[in-house]
Amino acid sequence: MQKLVSFSKRRGFIFPSSEIYGGFGSCYDYGPLGVEMRKNIKDAWWSSMTRGKDDIVGIDASILMNPKIWEASGHLSAGFADELVECKKCHHRFREDFVKDKCPDCGGSFTKSKKFNLMMKTFVGPVEDDASVAYLRAETCQGIYVNFKNVMQSMRKKVPFGIAQIGKAFRNEINPKDFIFRTREFEQMEMQWFCPPKDADKFFEYWLKKRLNWYYDLGISKKNLRTYEVPKKELAHYAKRAVDIEYKFPFGWKEIEGVHNRGDWDLSNHDKHSGEDLKYEDPSCAKATAGKYYPYVIETSVGVDRSMFTFLAEAYQEIEGGRGKNAKKEMEIVLNIDKRLAPVKVAVLPLVKNNPEIVKKARQVYDLLRADMVCLYDESGSIGRRYRRLDEIGCVSAITVDFDSLEDDSVTVRDRDTMKQKRVKIDKLLEFLS
Ligand code: ATP
Repeated sequence: MQKLVSFSKRRGFIFPSSEIYGGFGSCYDYGPLGVEMRKNIKDAWWSSMTRGKDDIVGIDASILMNPKIWEASGHLSAGFADELVECKKCHHRFREDFVKDKCPDCGGSFTKSKKFNLMMKTFVGPVEDDASVAYLRAETCQGIYVNFKNVMQSMRKKVPFGIAQIGKAFRNEINPKDFIFRTREFEQMEMQWFCPPKDADKFFEYWLKKRLNWYYDLGISKKNLRTYEVPKKELAHYAKRAVDIEYKFPFGWKEIEGVHNRGDWDLSNHDKHSGEDLKYEDPSCAKATAGKYYPYVIETSVGVDRSMFTFLAEAYQEIEGGRGKNAKKEMEIVLNIDKRLAPVKVAVLPLVKNNPEIVKKARQVYDLLRADMVCLYDESGSIGRRYRRLDEIGCVSAITVDFDSLEDDSVTVRDRDTMKQKRVKIDKLLEFLS
């Protein structure tokens, strides 16, 4: 875990937020490589959800919404609250399910547990009074439910169909911990699938399988992924069924995604609280009233941050003694990450930096590639050292411009995983890399 944290900082993936001011509890900033990798994760999720054969469209709802939404959803009542205990000695508070009978900070004993609401509060407008209270959304899916009718009508959708969204969510977590695993500000990728109640079980299985395959396809090994059927008595207030997808993190098996059957909880409650008819009228039913119902919702909900942690943890490899025939005896780090998720795809390296012809040619190759893919230019240090730096950040291909390149207009392309090298004509390079 500590290796991953320091690697992430050293190589520009993840920085502690507000670091020069001593940080800010459990907030993190994504650096130049982190931001590229997150974008790739989001693109992979978005394209898998919206470009496949399933009928799914996207939205991007606002973070601030009418507070009545959070009454209807159950978030402002006891439903969205953690049970907290307080240490009688040092007064630190902990989630009841995270601690045993003694305070981990001072060994003191605990008070009885109390509910603590996780919604982050703010005020809208110039006056800070009860009437201006608003909340930062605690999950992105409510923005989907309240737009169910808008999407259905504007896009002429028929049930079953889905709506996908990626966006920030906020929870006043009491014990944020484990790096980017549990933070107060995080990003979710959520898809809500609206279907006839009778088909909900079938679609649940379908989406669970599809989501597991997404991780496998992007390189997560089967031994590190498992599912956990949430027992009935532990289900959230809205859920009829919930299965967590768990990853084996350095600190144990933890949830990275939830697949939920939310029944008609959301649409029926928003219907009741807003007065807007959110039932669906099945056009295939002869009698309109007989075919009116609240669609059931199957939800797949995953955090961008937890997926990023998952992909980093899976890909990070330390190889004692280094790799390949020219291996030095030092340990080498390789980020063995799926090529689609790799933050940098290509690097262009002039063999030497003091030959103006080679540097000029390398610059030309760099300019040729950088418009089409995330590309680095690196001229400092020996070629071997540069390769190792690139392996560390998971750069897929390294291109070396050497003396021969000046004669034959070709370059050497080295593959991160096999370390095999291939000579490619510069005018065929884009095609080859694509
Ligand atoms: P947990 O039990 O870990 O608190 P949860 O069951 O409350 O999570 P959901 O409400 O189902 O989580 O949210 C769906 C997904 O959103 C989670 O699987 C996770 O990937 C992500 N997520 C939820 N809370 C956080 C958080 N505090 N920090 C980072 N990601 C989060």
